[in-house]
Amino acid sequence: MAHHQILIIGGGTAGLTAASQLRRARPELEVAILEPSRDHYYQPGWTLVGGGVFTLEQTHRLEVDLIPEGVVWIHDAVASFDPDAKAVRTAAGATISYDVLVVATGIKLCWDRIKGLSEALGSNGVTSNYSREHAAYTWQTIQNFQGGNAVFTYPETPIKCAGAPQKIMYMADDVFKRSPEVASRSSVIYASATPGIFGIPVYAEPLKKVVARRGITTKFLHTLKEVRAASKEAVFHVKDGDTTREEVISYEMLHVTPPMAAPDVVAESPLAVSGPGGWVEVDKFTTQHVRFPNVFSLGDVSSLPNSKTAAAVRGQAPVLVANLLAFLDQRPLEARYDGYACCPLITGYGKTIMAEFDYDGNPKPSFPCDPTKERWTMWVVKTKLLPWLYWNRMLKGYGHERQFMPGVS
Ligand code: FAD
Repeated sequence: MAHHQILIIGGGTAGLTAASQLRRARPELEVAILEPSRDHYYQPGWTLVGGGVFTLEQTHRLEVDLIPEGVVWIHDAVASFDPDAKAVRTAAGATISYDVLVVATGIKLCWDRIKGLSEALGSNGVTSNYSREHAAYTWQTIQNFQGGNAVFTYPETPIKCAGAPQKIMYMADDVFKRSPEVASRSSVIYASATPGIFGIPVYAEPLKKVVARRGITTKFLHTLKEVRAASKEAVFHVKDGDTTREEVISYEMLHVTPPMAAPDVVAESPLAVSGPGGWVEVDKFTTQHVRFPNVFSLGDVSSLPNSKTAAAVRGQAPVLVANLLAFLDQRPLEARYDGYACCPLITGYGKTIMAEFDYDGNPKPSFPCDPTKERWTMWVVKTKLLPWLYWNRMLKGYGHERQFMPGVS
């Protein structure tokens, strides 16, 4: 049976960042990453693919080029967890034991929870930036749009990048308004299961103004349940006090953000929280599992109650590394994650609100300016600086020396 001192499940944003930081912090550590995919994508760039700013290829790198030096890449997937035995089984049938496990498998997109969606996606105006295969089709759809309803949805579950469902809407609205004829025939609708435009009040206020300025219709407590591709209709369940009613909205363009949950292999394991989501149940400050002390988790799959973003990983990773090393040394776990997350809210081409905040919704700006304002400089940060930092700093493990590294991803 293979054994690794530290076994990281998932070589995405969180797994790679944690592995790099661990090796930088303590080069003698023996670290392995279990990751099935040969390709890695900078997912925050998919909003820009959908908006015609990036190509998909610009968001792509080969996994082999990102695995930190000295780290073993096991090209396989986890099939089950046995934390009592300190081991996992893989899809290929191997058993791997570990001293410490880091779970970073990311999130599952539940396309099938919306009737008719999987079949509809990718043609006749139905698209999603959350699907790698369809982000480019979003841009095609925006360009071909000639009028009617353009509907942008948000589901009832936690999702990765809570701002992404509306960022693409503002870019689409900009494009529609370039043609007065198209604009006069168009109605842009934000239909969201949430009760408001954004969960952090200080950033919701400027977004309400953006929506009003653009004449966008908002429909809250609207959960997409079905896509009727043949008749171009989207069926929503609408919460109305204690009752739920059905509302059918016709569309010419439909951008769907699907419900999300932990991958089944995690949700069905002893590591999962009981109840919805199935996330890995960790302490919200230390990132250590609440029942299995030699298990840690970060990124989208963790139960950390922050906004699920790559930026949050940047706040989590140094804390996880410090606490994992303390665990190995049998010292108290003293590093604390404060819930830092960042969502660069693109409010149109050339405009971004750099929304950074902690668990309590307090702004945590990395730049010395009012973070609630739309700024061209923050658009440049989003489109140029952050991708560069991601590839050249974050995935290479810089920042491990600080328990908390403010804001960039
Ligand atoms: P991922 O990066 O998704 O990695 C998970 C890894 O686990 C993958 O490599 C996968 O192959 C692997 N895996 C899955 N199952 C298994 C298994 N069984 N065994 C082993 N490995 C497995 N974040 C921001 O900070 N800013 C943004 O502006 C932003 N915009 C976004 C826009 C869109 C459209 C999307 C889709 C995401 C956006 N994000 C943004 C979110 C960000 O990309 C994620 O929060 C981040 O990638 C989470 O990292 P992760 O490692 O947890 O998951």
